[in-house]
Amino acid sequence: MKLISIVVPCYNEEESIELFYSTVQPVIEGIGYADYEFIYVNDGSKDSTEQKMRELSNAKKNVRYISFSRNFGKEAAMLAGIEAARGDAVVLMDVDLQDPPELLPQMIEDWANGGYDVVYTRRSTRSGEPPLRSWFAKQFYKLINKMSDVHIVDGARDYRLMDRKAVDSFLRLRERNRFAKGLFMWVGYKSKCIEFENVERAAGNTSWSFWKLVHYAIDGIVSFTISPLRWATYFGLFTASSAFLYMFYVIFSKLVYGNPVSGYASIVSIMLFFGGLQLIFLGIIGEYIGRIFIEVKARPNYIVKEESSQPVTNMEKVRKGIIQR
Ligand code: UDP
Ligand code: MG
Repeated sequence: MKLISIVVPCYNEEESIELFYSTVQPVIEGIGYADYEFIYVNDGSKDSTEQKMRELSNAKKNVRYISFSRNFGKEAAMLAGIEAARGDAVVLMDVDLQDPPELLPQMIEDWANGGYDVVYTRRSTRSGEPPLRSWFAKQFYKLINKMSDVHIVDGARDYRLMDRKAVDSFLRLRERNRFAKGLFMWVGYKSKCIEFENVERAAGNTSWSFWKLVHYAIDGIVSFTISPLRWATYFGLFTASSAFLYMFYVIFSKLVYGNPVSGYASIVSIMLFFGGLQLIFLGIIGEYIGRIFIEVKARPNYIVKEESSQPVTNMEKVRKGIIQR
């Protein structure tokens, strides 16, 4: 029988740990196609999430957990869970039940009998979200799709099922700046998208602030394309050639009309304009250099403080060369 691993990243989700299990377990049990394991990842929660996971893991033999030494972010939590997964397929789900378990039978069917290696999901609506946030999200997807080669579907969730092949390919990407939505797409394989209507959280609050989302968007763009650097080059070429033409004009008018000592306004505007432009482009270059700095340090993506009693080991994968350490 095949094994499906369900990976659940959790940050301050004490109310949802058990609720998630008791909701999803019957669904997957009902499908009956495969055995299953739950892998909870505690991303440095400050509430009793870890305690709840420990209890659940002690009570149910197919529940394992990994607990981080601090909050490393959802990307790191997903990575840890995927690394620990032993399944023939891995399903990523949010613990707040915003990823409807009712889709699981369809996803597993598509994987088992439909020949799909990846079944991912997207929200067709963003109801219940502040309109401004939806607008920014839309613009972000437009922008990143215009700029980079990988196509990231607007409203794509992290909720997805991946075959072992896709999982192992994903794990070969060892970068520190992890923008999983893009990485999953980058990996490729035969994929299918399932749509669903937005669902409100079952309990607790979202931990994403507006600024966190802005940073996430910048990370996404910078880690998937270098086209901002190219823009800087083109824009530099354009302004340099305009400046050159303007220089001729200035010299010409000096020779023909003499030197009327005006021009304070134009000089100041030009200085400020180019000063600002240079700072922006320096900032863009800085974004990339900062990421090189982080990659070069090659720190681990997360630190595990505690694991469930059936230890989660990566040694097998390291031996197989899936993970380089
Ligand atoms: N999460 C996490 N680490 C974080 C933030 C969030 O593991 O630093 C988890 C969180 O517990 C949830 C999932 O990621 O299971 C999605 O988070 P959330 O519901 O806050 O995001 P939203 O659904 O609003 O996009
Ligand atoms: Mg959520």
